[in-house]
Amino acid sequence: MVEPAALPHVVIVGGGFGGLYTARALAGRPVRVTLLDRRNYHLFQPLLYQVATAALNPSDIATPLRSILRKAANVTVLLAHVDRVELDHRRLVLDRGEMGYDGLVLAVGASHSYFGHEDWELLAPGLKSLEDALEIRRRVLLAYEAAEREQDGAEQRALLTFVVIGGGPTGVELAGALGEISRQTIARDFRVIDPTKARIILLEGGPRILSTYPESLSGRAQAQLERIGVEVRTRAMVTQVTPDAVWLGGEQIRCRTVLWAAGAAAAPLGNTLGVPLDRVGRVLVESDLSIPGHPEAFVIGDLCAFLHQTGAPLPGLAPVAIQQGRVAAENVLQRLAGQPTRPFHYRDKGSMATIGRAAAVAVIGRVQLSGLAAWVAWLLVHIISLIGFRNRVLVLLQWAWAYVSWQRGARLITGPWRGRSESGGS
Ligand SMILES: Cc1cc2nc3c(=O)[nH]c(=O)nc-3n(C[C@H](O)[C@H](O)[C@H](O)COP(=O)(O)OP(=O)(O)OC[C@H]3O[C@@H](n4cnc5c(N)ncnc54)[C@H](O)[C@@H]3O)c2cc1C
Repeated sequence: MVEPAALPHVVIVGGGFGGLYTARALAGRPVRVTLLDRRNYHLFQPLLYQVATAALNPSDIATPLRSILRKAANVTVLLAHVDRVELDHRRLVLDRGEMGYDGLVLAVGASHSYFGHEDWELLAPGLKSLEDALEIRRRVLLAYEAAEREQDGAEQRALLTFVVIGGGPTGVELAGALGEISRQTIARDFRVIDPTKARIILLEGGPRILSTYPESLSGRAQAQLERIGVEVRTRAMVTQVTPDAVWLGGEQIRCRTVLWAAGAAAAPLGNTLGVPLDRVGRVLVESDLSIPGHPEAFVIGDLCAFLHQTGAPLPGLAPVAIQQGRVAAENVLQRLAGQPTRPFHYRDKGSMATIGRAAAVAVIGRVQLSGLAAWVAWLLVHIISLIGFRNRVLVLLQWAWAYVSWQRGARLITGPWRGRSESGGS
């Protein structure tokens, strides 16, 4: 029998979709695997907006990596931030110490991009982590609370104006959920303000929302949003964000809550590699997902620019990261065994975005769905893909309850109140 210490050491950085599926594919294989992540849980990002809008709790969409990988005896999970990768020395520099490897899979995902306006980040939080989701939830709920106490009419209107910047799937989901909160969930809970009069404005710089979907579905998504009170504005380029307004050139929209769903960039770890990156910081990989000149190191998921299929990078989607994780696992084993690797090919099974209760759009192969049918498809896919049996049952029950009762229950609590600037984020 081969002693474990004598087995090659594969390090995976990132326990998101890509890293987790790599680790699962390497479970029980003849390698020692270390999975490093700066947090100790896998996060189901597609449902983050549900936490941000008080429909789900953080624990419903986060599962400890250790428990997911409990049965994978050759996989060790370590909580660590990777500061730098030294490809030439096959070494990682961690927040504390260093770690060598024989094979490497980098799956550290993406972060926000404010297109050079980094100062907007405090004023307009984006949605990538549980912390972001809870901060957004806090700002939204505090804005209603502040409006209820506000004497000044103009300030009250600003508090009840919510601007979402970016009309991609995340922006659409956030705006839809904000519309439902104001029109349904808390519609009768206040005495001074009328939450149903809140303005939810979705700003998109391009000619239509959901630009990666067929045009007809963009139109239907817009109509579904407008039905729940969301004002959709396309060709609306944001030029300035301040604590109390969003500016579109000379036009000012007074508001106290601004959410950012407009841009993503690859995680900063890619910058430490010293290899060619694309415009948004993704690593340009070979067709087998390896880094050019470093055949033992692979990059997958949102950090990866894979140009070998269509000439353009694959979209930043969970199924891309999952499928790449499985192939990277096989390829790293092949490489360590001195065998040829195989090229990656993405199998697109469709995409979907939800807008609200019984409202969504979906493209599955050649089939385009919208409304209730798309929403049911969306619900089933997301519940089935949630990692961990406990989560699945809990999420299903909570949704069922929310669906029949329109309630978000105890998740609507927030505080403490620290002053007027709170909801503006200044
Ligand atoms: C709000 C939102 C909604 C989305 N909705 C959908 C959807 O509906 N459908 C869909 O298919 N996709 C959706 N996506 C995209 C999908 O979540 C990503 O494409 C997918 O998560 C990418 O997987 P990944 O493994 O590359 O990165 P991630 O899943 O982001 O995982 C990266 C991991 O790396 C860790 N990490 C980062 N840097 C370091 C470091 N320096 N050291 C240690 N650890 C590090 C992070 O903690 C994280 O666990 C959504 C994304 C967001 C943000």
